[in-house]
Amino acid sequence: MNFSDPIDEAAEREQQMIEIALANRPKPNMVYTGECHWCEEPIDKGHYCDAECREDHEKYLRAQSQRRVA
Ligand SMILES: [Zn+2]
Repeated sequence: MNFSDPIDEAAEREQQMIEIALANRPKPNMVYTGECHWCEEPIDKGHYCDAECREDHEKYLRAQSQRRVA
């Protein structure tokens, strides 16, 4: 497989844009700080720099709330 194909790269970039858009779906009780809420990377809009940060942060928040309940 040749991953340096420009069409593959474009598709990969598009996929990444979609993931970032999904990661930044509006959420209640979250304010725009100019930084990713997970890794503190500077961002133009939203709350996370990518979907992975959103997932990691949500996992973290879930773990936190479970700890509080128990
Ligand atoms: Zn991040």
